[in-house]
Amino acid sequence: MSSQSLTDGFGRQITYLRLSVTDRCDLRCGYCMSENMSFLPKRDLLNLEELEHLSAAFINRGVRKIRISGGEPLVRRDIMKLMGNLSKHLDSGDLDELTLTTNATQLSRYAGELKAMGVGRINISLDTLDDDKFAQLTRRRVLKTVLEGIEAAQNAGLKIKINVVALADFNRDEIPSMIEWAHKEGMDLTLIEVMPLGEVEEDRFDQYLPLTALRDELEQDWTLEPIDKNTGGPARYVRVRETGGVLGFITPLTNNFCAGCNRVRVTCTGQIYMCLGHMDCIDLRTALRGSDPETALNAALDIAMLRKPERHTFDIAGPGAMPAVERHMSVTGG
Ligand code: SF4
Repeated sequence: MSSQSLTDGFGRQITYLRLSVTDRCDLRCGYCMSENMSFLPKRDLLNLEELEHLSAAFINRGVRKIRISGGEPLVRRDIMKLMGNLSKHLDSGDLDELTLTTNATQLSRYAGELKAMGVGRINISLDTLDDDKFAQLTRRRVLKTVLEGIEAAQNAGLKIKINVVALADFNRDEIPSMIEWAHKEGMDLTLIEVMPLGEVEEDRFDQYLPLTALRDELEQDWTLEPIDKNTGGPARYVRVRETGGVLGFITPLTNNFCAGCNRVRVTCTGQIYMCLGHMDCIDLRTALRGSDPETALNAALDIAMLRKPERHTFDIAGPGAMPAVERHMSVTGG
């Protein structure tokens, strides 16, 4: 069994796996999913043992951080069993971090258990604090449940980062108050540029808000001091002197971050996508279900490293521009 680290053709070491455990979600955010999504048949999904086996294979090849994502990972019925089993790699020291990205609708139920099994911090996707706007964007009126989930996570002692997709035609004016709210609650907040993945009803050209422009606006009222914070992801961080809190910027379109890429994504059906910005993928499920999964998996991971592209080619050129990638964000989860 090879334990050679995963290094791509550009010399970048891959130490971060983003593992999607379901394509399903209980929300329908307008920039991520269309209203009438058809989801994968459950038989196509990797089962619990296969997700664990796959994770162990990546850990064996030098992955130190696993982020569980979806869709919405906490809607998958056996998710806590998976988290529990993966947390054993934290205990053994083979994994530095096991974390999660969630929309918080299920957090009231699971926050305590996540903390108890060694999850230290989580990312929560939330783009507005306005009840009507939340219902408009997600097509579900459940903001109250989300805020209760956040409170449960805080009470459980989980460190929280709020991820906000900056949308020109939706939450631009609300972003300063969301930052103030998060910092007052002791949470970090990261702003993310919308990414053109998958066809959706809305025009991404209307949604696209360059964070360079937004940062200029914020700096008219606040002092943003760059800080040397690295969470192993693409965000670049500042401290807001006036609030004392940490603010992150994820800028795939205005400030490319691919040179420092350390990650790959695996879908809930076992397809490895070497880059969020490309459709190229390799099937790991067949390898997993074959006669010699270890050898086949390692061979597939070696090929994946050879095929990992240097960078994404995202672009939101103009009104009605086609998505850069056909695949919806919910297939790999950010
Ligand atoms: S877009 Fe692709 S190459 Fe760039 S950071 Fe993301 S996964 Fe890596």
